[in-house]
Amino acid sequence: MSFIVAIDGPAGSGKGTITKLLGEKFNLINIDTGAMYRCVALACLENNISYTQLDKIEQLLENIDIKLEKNQDKQIILLNGEDVSAKIRTTEVDEVVAKFSALKIVRNKMTPLQRKMGEENNIIMEGRDIGTVVFPNADVKIFLDCSLEERAKRRYKQNIEKGISCSYDEVLESIKERHLLETKREIAPFIKAEDAIYIDSTNMTINEVVNKLSDIIKEKIH
Ligand code: C5P
Repeated sequence: MSFIVAIDGPAGSGKGTITKLLGEKFNLINIDTGAMYRCVALACLENNISYTQLDKIEQLLENIDIKLEKNQDKQIILLNGEDVSAKIRTTEVDEVVAKFSALKIVRNKMTPLQRKMGEENNIIMEGRDIGTVVFPNADVKIFLDCSLEERAKRRYKQNIEKGISCSYDEVLESIKERHLLETKREIAPFIKAEDAIYIDSTNMTINEVVNKLSDIIKEKIH
């Protein structure tokens, strides 16, 4: 039986960084499910397929090959053999990913893939529905929350550092819209699992969150 840590949280909650650090610390394979949905959105964008063209999306999903690999210290995302680690993080993908991830055909393809990854390995998996749908019986379930304003502030800072020009208000609006789509969707909405531990990271540093989660994981690992 593998050991599974589920981390659900909104965009900009810091869950990517925190999951990576915890994975290294506890020797757990880090799986970013958001990257998988981003791959689907990117593949559709590149093939001029809109989220309303279900037949075309279904066809595309039949042959899609998504791999999360580790190259030295960095995680790389391969879509049909191509390294798309940077391409899946553009604002174009940000804008449409929640539309694609709300589709039943997309989730029906991704969820079994994610479960399979957890069958053979000890993992820490981050996303929106890990504790509710993908691994409702995970050994540790965390719901990592953060205020909208703080998330927008962090994402805005990241964009500026990456050289992406944007305004704080634009980032705030985009995060708000994505959050609404994710929490209101019919399938696998982004909600806290009843038995998940709630942590609000708004006023916490990355280190503080990592230490807190480490204590929780340590307790369960023994
Ligand atoms: O975590 P990240 O912001 O990279 O996720 C990108 C998108 O993928 C989210 O906005 C959400 O729409 C979708 N997603 C999801 N379920 C997950 C993980 C991500 O619907 N488990």
